[in-house]
Amino acid sequence: MTTSQAPTSDDLAALRQRYRLERERRVRPDGASQYQGTDAEFGYYAADPYTAGAPERDALHDTVDVAVIGGGFGGILAGARIRQQGVESVRIVEKGGDFGGTWYWNRYPGIHCDIESHVYLPMLDETGYVPRWKYSPGEEIRRHAVRVARQFNLYQDVLFSTTVTSLTWDEESQTWLVATDRGDAFQATYVVTATGTLSEPKLPGIPGIEDFKGHTFHTSRWDYAYTGGTPEGGMTGLSTKRVGIVGTGATGVQVIPMVAEDAGHVYVFQRTPSTVDVRANCRTTALDVGADRAGWARERRDNYLRIVSGETAEEDLVADRWTMSASLLEKLLPSFRRRGDRSAFEAEYEIADAAKMNELRARVERTVIDPDTAEKLKPWYRYACKRPAFSDTYYPAFNHGGVTLVDTADTHGIERVTEHGVVVGDTAYELDCLIFATGFSVGTSGIQSGRLPVHGRGGAQLLHVRAQQGPRTLHGFTSNGFPNLIQMGSLQNASSVNFTHVLDEQAVHAAALVAAAEALGALIEPSREAEDDWIADLAEDAPDHEWFHAECTPGYYNREGLGRPNGPTAYPHGAVAFHELLRQWREESLGEILQTRSKF
Ligand code: NDP
Repeated sequence: MTTSQAPTSDDLAALRQRYRLERERRVRPDGASQYQGTDAEFGYYAADPYTAGAPERDALHDTVDVAVIGGGFGGILAGARIRQQGVESVRIVEKGGDFGGTWYWNRYPGIHCDIESHVYLPMLDETGYVPRWKYSPGEEIRRHAVRVARQFNLYQDVLFSTTVTSLTWDEESQTWLVATDRGDAFQATYVVTATGTLSEPKLPGIPGIEDFKGHTFHTSRWDYAYTGGTPEGGMTGLSTKRVGIVGTGATGVQVIPMVAEDAGHVYVFQRTPSTVDVRANCRTTALDVGADRAGWARERRDNYLRIVSGETAEEDLVADRWTMSASLLEKLLPSFRRRGDRSAFEAEYEIADAAKMNELRARVERTVIDPDTAEKLKPWYRYACKRPAFSDTYYPAFNHGGVTLVDTADTHGIERVTEHGVVVGDTAYELDCLIFATGFSVGTSGIQSGRLPVHGRGGAQLLHVRAQQGPRTLHGFTSNGFPNLIQMGSLQNASSVNFTHVLDEQAVHAAALVAAAEALGALIEPSREAEDDWIADLAEDAPDHEWFHAECTPGYYNREGLGRPNGPTAYPHGAVAFHELLRQWREESLGEILQTRSKF
């Protein structure tokens, strides 16, 4: 059934059966351990392709008020909001050679953000910038990151090409000792961690992957020296090359049509097809988005957040495929406003889901000429099982004579890499270049990965404490035993598909904490009771998504098919309600986590 008409109960039963079979074709016993990092055999990753050599500088041994770890949008917004509170001494430490985070590292051809730029780009009201496209190219976003950093004077005292290697609380001076890979050992009264969730590239652990003698790289370190061209295309270096691309997630969907334009031949190694919905990118003017009114960006962003968080809204200002499919995002996000009778909801949800997936499969059928290729490109799982993708050039790329789709589902992915190429089933594909669009280790950057050890009071290591007691925070930001440490991210916090909005609210909160502590000369540290209360609040209404993800095709949302843990990982009533809760808490209760320094 591939039409977009409403499914019957027989259709639903057939779909459930098909989804089960498709899941079984792909699930692997090794789960997430099938992947490896990119820094071992793939030396290319270690280098920063955009900054030639880290500039020489002396190691720092001074003191700052605030150290912010990470110079992506999280760190930039934290720095900016803290400066807005009048705290001047802010030092951002960033691994890359400039600001931008994800948008610094990812510059692959075709890179765009598929969240509308007028809601994705933060601080548009403050900077006066109006994006030129409904969905911005990566370079416009990277430049905006630089724009915000400049406006808030964040280049002053930033440390680029520098990785923080440890954070250690010093009881005597009541400051954090920040150590880096450049020999710095400076003190900071407050530390804000903004190390991102998708910053550690991963590669599949395919046997023989190190033996390949051709060229290879990960999409987040695109090698334009080899391919030629720019993110807009023109990769003349590929014109005679046989290029293999592994991965058809949101990145692969953007990259593949671009490489198809320029390469001699492209082999797309697909394990699970993405859902690829209409994107309809277009030029936009200030008039289109009402940017002549003060506060237009905040209004639009709030409207978007309401819709994609499950709240009602009088109008849909963005009106794209994210907002039109918003009701299906419930299972995608642990933090989503849920309401009404659950059993009635689940029945309606399944029907809406099937109708949407039928529509998406019909789109493939309408667009891809070769029926066998079209069949392989159809996604057979429920909408929220995988992160949706959006493109109007992806399916047409498969009508290009120079593109071959290789389905690897039956072999659970590529079986083997040899000196000369890739083996799937009985077929060996000879390649000159192999590009990995294989994504990132999710939620394992910075302090969650252990790569950045954090030692709090009495030398307690944050990750060890978490391993023993489970994550304990107040609102996701602060933890007992780790004074003046403010963590940005989604743990025990709220999330949204528009993550920069979430980061901005987090930055406002972090800045308010710092300002309040500065005003009173106090330490920021929640009590154990405050943490207990927060965890109990999260647990009370934690959504039961386990059954849903247990039936999903493998991916990073369900730990590669092993199931997503239930329990209190996020605020369960949606980002809008969470932000309101934080606002109220700042007005009424912030003082409760300020401890007088003399106490210690
Ligand atoms: P993903 O993790 O989403 O995709 C990785 C791809 O690699 C999947 O198709 C996966 O297949 C495939 N793969 C992994 N191992 C193998 C193997 N052994 N053989 C064959 N295929 C394999 O990474 P992306 O970089 O695409 O996206 C990561 C995230 O980045 C997105 O979810 C999104 O949050 C963000 N992003 C956002 C964009 C935006 O516009 N806002 C654009 C791009 C990315 P399988 O599915 O079977 O595991």
